[in-house]
Amino acid sequence: MHISLQAELGDFRDRFTIYTYALKMSFTAVMLSSLVIALLLLPLWWADMLPVPFESAVVYGVAFSWLIGGIVSGVLALVAGFAMHQLSVSRAEFERLSRTDMLSGLLNRRAFTEALERADGHACLAIFDVDRFKLINDRFGHACGDAVIVAVSAELAAAFPGKSAVARLGGEEFGVMVVSPVKEERVAQIRSVCVRLAERPIALDGCTVNITVSAGIAELGEGRSKEAVYSAADKALYLAKTLGRNRVVHEEEGLHAMPRRRHDDIRDTGASSAMH
Ligand code: GH3
Ligand code: MG
Ligand code: MG
Repeated sequence: MHISLQAELGDFRDRFTIYTYALKMSFTAVMLSSLVIALLLLPLWWADMLPVPFESAVVYGVAFSWLIGGIVSGVLALVAGFAMHQLSVSRAEFERLSRTDMLSGLLNRRAFTEALERADGHACLAIFDVDRFKLINDRFGHACGDAVIVAVSAELAAAFPGKSAVARLGGEEFGVMVVSPVKEERVAQIRSVCVRLAERPIALDGCTVNITVSAGIAELGEGRSKEAVYSAADKALYLAKTLGRNRVVHEEEGLHAMPRRRHDDIRDTGASSAMH
């Protein structure tokens, strides 16, 4: 019952459905009222209380129920239809918002976990984390930290289109479900986005910030629980951080050292800046 109500409400997104609904409702109301009038006229006819012949009384009754009942129920159904339309639109918006991370516009953790459930085996989970992000907040302020999060989000979203899913898991941590038939290709995609992020300074208000990112990868094999995949990717990320950051670690293959950037200052801090 709950599901069917949801589906009906979902159908009210276009005007055509509202008009069809109003027509159906007024037709049903008129048919029912005609039947009720005919049934009510029967005892009056038996009691000889009808001022006109029974057939004429039925014709008048049905005609009035079509004329007045049809118009009134049609208008009411239209009002109800538009109210349901509004409800359907705002519920769709609410559902979208409940699945979206407000700062980055990416999926949030809940929506991402749902997306992982749909993985068919030719996919892996990569958890990206900006290195030494606290320093960026401390040096440039929280607003600049937010701008870095937005820039990294845009880069990840552009790097993993189509079937892949990109989410902000919290803070400066991102989850990506990378879908591609070949494992090596998936790892290569993840590595190349980390390299791009490290090579392109992020332009902020009045300055640029260099960042590096670490990533941990785990395979979304069939029959493997999502908790186990999260945990394995998390461990791989932890290893990447422990091994010095600015690198990608796969749960199976061990270390994929990232090419070091020329700026020496990133090695220790993970973040550097340059004034315009
Ligand atoms: P590590 O290389 O080990 O990842 O170092 P880190 O400094 O990035 O470590 P950590 O993950 O502990 O720091 C994340 C910081 O991100 C802590 C928190 O203050 C900050 N943060 C969390 N959410 C937000 C946010 O929405 N905006 C901004 N600007 N900062 C955030
Ligand atoms: Mg971090
Ligand atoms: Mg973090």
